[in-house]
Order: sequence, then structure tokens, then C-alpha cells
Amino acid sequence: MPPDTRAAWLRTLGHLALVLAAALAAGVLAGHPWPVLAAAALGVLGWHYWKLHRLLRRLTARRRLAPPAGHGVWSELERLLHRSQSEMRARKRRLLGILRAYRAAAAALPDAVVVLERNSQRALWFNEAAETLLGLRHPRDIGAPLGERLQPLRLSPWLAAGRHAEPMLDVPSPADPSLRLSLRLIPYSDEYWLLVARDVTKLMRLEQMRRDFVANVSHELRTPLTVVHGYLDLLDPAEHPEWAQILGELQRQSARMTQLVEDLLTLSRLEAQERLQDEPVPMAPMLATLRREAEALSQGRHTVAVEDQAALDLWGSTRELHSAFSNLVSNAVRYTPAGGAITIRFAREGEGAVLSVRDTGAGIPAAHLPRITERFYRVSTSRSRDSGGTGLGLAIVKHVLNLHQARLEIESEVGRGSVFSCHFGPERVQPRARPDAGRAEAAGT
Ligand code: ADP
Repeated sequence: MPPDTRAAWLRTLGHLALVLAAALAAGVLAGHPWPVLAAAALGVLGWHYWKLHRLLRRLTARRRLAPPAGHGVWSELERLLHRSQSEMRARKRRLLGILRAYRAAAAALPDAVVVLERNSQRALWFNEAAETLLGLRHPRDIGAPLGERLQPLRLSPWLAAGRHAEPMLDVPSPADPSLRLSLRLIPYSDEYWLLVARDVTKLMRLEQMRRDFVANVSHELRTPLTVVHGYLDLLDPAEHPEWAQILGELQRQSARMTQLVEDLLTLSRLEAQERLQDEPVPMAPMLATLRREAEALSQGRHTVAVEDQAALDLWGSTRELHSAFSNLVSNAVRYTPAGGAITIRFAREGEGAVLSVRDTGAGIPAAHLPRITERFYRVSTSRSRDSGGTGLGLAIVKHVLNLHQARLEIESEVGRGSVFSCHFGPERVQPRARPDAGRAEAAGT
């Protein structure tokens, strides 16, 4: 017990002893000691009850206690209560200050921020930018179900995905369709989530300008290149033996440039599409074509095997899927030394399917894998150039797969080979139409 409290307590006990002693003395003088003593004790008890009652009333009325003036145990109790009340108030003021500062910071953010309740998906709070970017209104939309309020965005299934919700990268704003937004869901606690919407209109415009520029340049380069290529083809090295080496090099380089322009145009075309014209993609002829292409490119230097085990067809764009698969096959041939083996396999995977291209070639060091699908990213520039690569093949593969909601997985071991697999979900497969479906074919050359 602190010294002040102990002193107050002793003082109160002393007062009690004094009162009782005085009462006893008065009682003895009056000839009735016990009744006088009992009356005094009752008086003391009554006084304490009155003090207790007064304190309870003040506490229940949530009134702020005044700093006490006396020295007894009640004053000490009031002093302690007054102190803890003051401390609590100071803490509350500090917390409120912090909360206000946070709110002011969130309100001033240029991004729209909405705090929503996880279960009901209702908006609990939003900042000013949420009014301009999402069209929410204070106080009308506080407590409103967000999916309903922002209906054009079709948020409900996205919100339902919760922690697994992928960011929505480029969606029109419900407040102004000329604005493009990127939405992100941050489940920061079990009860509350944060929805953050960023205005990416300028970024998207720049991105569009970049795409248009690349598409236009590639398109403009195509005609002169065709002419150059055409004239070079007319020149027969046999007729000009002294020019044979130069002519050969010119033809190789112009073929490379033509391929580069074609790949750039393919990429631009893929980037410009949000959805593809979907159709059934028969996989038996697709695999036969891939085998033919591999064999033509390999010119007998590799073993080419096709394993068709899925008895399924795909659903998507035949043209684009062929371009993706054939890029993988061409890489496998180009990066595998003579004598190596290339296996193209199409198989079921859960409810979906996987097409993989395996080679026994050079392999790719793990450090390069995260960036390998970037445009013009090459593990070894000289080897890629020598092999006739443009550095755009895997970027095309990735784009095509994205448009089919499929994903590319790469496993590779330096010196042993690589496996590039394209994984398709259940919505992208369908039973094979032809009767010979399901017959596993495994063949080698
Ligand atoms: P490129 O036209 O240069 O082949 P890609 O985008 O198709 O461009 O591939 C990017 C890089 O990835 C290549 O330069 C090569 O280094 C590496 N690569 C791709 N496929 C394979 C493979 N099957 N084996 C080894 N390396 C590969």
C-alpha cells in the first residue's frame, strides 16, 4: 500500500477509535454506556454508507470526480479514482488524436479507400477519393452493400473470393466510365477489409500509346522488309560467287528482321484483345502439326515424341494456341543439341489439361526463370541470336495463355533439359469429338 493511502487508512481507524472512545466515556457518564456506544457505532456506519452512496451516484452519473479536499479513507479513494479517471481521459484524448490523424491521412489519399465489413460486405467508412472515383456518397452509402452499390463492376464474386481475390487491373469507374481503375482487396483483419481503388487512366493511356506505337512501327516496317527480302531472294549466290557469303548473311538477317516484325505484330494483336473468339480446338491435328513442325525444324537431329493421353480437346483460339505451342516446340528444338529428345505431351490434370514440351537441352539457370517471359529477355543473347530467336517467343506464349486463363510453368535443370507446361482449367477443356479419342499415342522418330 502506498504511504499516502496507508496514512489515510490509519487516520480513519484513529477517528473511529476516538469516536467510539468518546461515546463510551459519554455513556459511562450518562450511566448507559452500551446504548450510547451502539448509537455512535450506528452513526459512524451510517456516515460511511452515505459516503459510499454519494460516490456510487457520482460514478454511475459518469460525472467527473472533483479533486478531493479531506484526508480520510474516502478522500483517498476519491483521489485514486480521480487520478485513474484523469489518466484514462488523457489516454483517450491521445488515441482520438491518433485516430483523427489516421483518418485525415486516409481521407487525403489520392486513392479511393473503403473499409468494409467482411461478412456483410457493407461499407463502414470511405474517403473523399471514393466519392470521385467510385461514386459513393456520404452518408447515403455508409452501411450500403458494396457489391450492389458498385454494380457495374460486378464486385460480389470478387469480394466473395476474399484473400484469394486477384487485383482487378483495368476496370471502368462506376462514377465516370472514362476513368480506368485498378482495384485491390486487402483483408487486413478477420472482420474488416480494405478496398483500394487507384486511378490508372493516365498509365493506361500511356500503355495504349506504347502499344499503338509498337504496332504502327512494326506495320510500317513490314512492307519495306518484304521488298528487301523479295529482291534478296531473286539474287542467286551461284551467279555471284564472290558475293555468296554476303548474300547469305543478308538473307539470314532479313529473315530474322521479318520474323521479329511478325512476332511484334503478333504480340500487339494479342495485347489489343481482351477476349478471343473461342471455338473448339481439336488437339489430335494440333499435336500432329506440332510434331511435323518439330521434325522440319530439327531436320533429323533430334528424337521427337508425341504423347496424346488426354482424350480431350481445348476450348479457345486455335490460331493463338498453335502459335504458343509452336513457340515452345521451336525453342525446344533450337536449344537442344543434336542427339537430344523432345517430347510433346497432352494429358489430363484434375478437371483440366496440361500440354507440356520437354527437352533434353541446355536448360535454364534458376535465376533467369522469373524474368524469362519478358520481351527480349534472353539467357544468352548470342546463343538466342545464333538459333534464330527474336526474344519474343515466350512473351507470346504467356500472353496467349493469359487470354485462355491458363498458366505457364517452367521446370529446368542446367545441362539436363527443360519442361515448359501450359496448364488449362476445366472451363477450357471439352470431351474429344472424334471416336478414336482416348487412344494414347506414343511415338518416336
Ligand atoms: P528466343 O526467341 O530468344 O528463343 P524466347 O522468348 O522464346 O526468345 O525465349 C527466351 C529465352 O529463354 C531464350 O533466349 C533462351 O535463352 C531461353 N529458352 C527458351 N526456351 C528454352 C529451352 N527450351 N531451353 C533452354 N533455354 C530456353
